[in-house]
Amino acid sequence: MFDKEIDRFLARHNYIAVEPRAALIDMDGTLYDSMPRHAQAWMRMVSEIGIDATVEEFFMYEGRTGASTINLLFNRAFGRDATETEIKELYSRKTKYFTELPPVSPMPGAADMLDFLRKVGMKRVLVTGSGQSSLINRLDTDFPLAFEPDMRITARDVVHGKPAPDPFLMAMKKAEVTPAQSIVIENAPLGVESGDAAGAFTIGVTTGPVPAAALAEAGAAIVFPSMRDLAQKLPILLYALSTQARNLN
Ligand code: CA
Repeated sequence: MFDKEIDRFLARHNYIAVEPRAALIDMDGTLYDSMPRHAQAWMRMVSEIGIDATVEEFFMYEGRTGASTINLLFNRAFGRDATETEIKELYSRKTKYFTELPPVSPMPGAADMLDFLRKVGMKRVLVTGSGQSSLINRLDTDFPLAFEPDMRITARDVVHGKPAPDPFLMAMKKAEVTPAQSIVIENAPLGVESGDAAGAFTIGVTTGPVPAAALAEAGAAIVFPSMRDLAQKLPILLYALSTQARNLN
């Protein structure tokens, strides 16, 4: 099972084998079903400052830092970057609107996926472009023991966010693993692009309106239709990964 996907990944990255020792895991849309609320909060904020936008586009920007999304919208609407002050004010307004919405639920299957990784001794690193403390602070309650305190990369740590490879490269450094020892779990095209650019076996999971094809196109080695499905098949996938080496002849 999964031989074709693994072979294709090994050939594309010119690896002989993958030896998974750490899982680098996204938060929004992966561990929490938070994307619809983020999109709603963004829409409320941008409509107040006269920027035309669609709900769908915020699903495509997912993974970017708040500052980068604000600059993208500013350039489109006003032909310039936002100032530091504007970014700070507008992102905190968006953050406030997000917290005013009903609380988001953990993604079904996410806790099982994290439990399995812990039990088989895989290191786990959280890798998010988010600075939304209302969610980050819930991690230990919703997913106890999943992430050691020093195994978290958030908006605070990252200068070049997704789709740049930097956040995942930082995570590999923290976990003391190489790209070929890493898997990435992501739900958004920009996050997948970042994980693949960092050289990790990047698993795409569709959990919202973004289609599987968009994740495959962004560089996902394999795409699962839900977090529940990934949680169920992860043991087989990890086994297949750790036993399959590329035949170089
Ligand atoms: Ca995400």
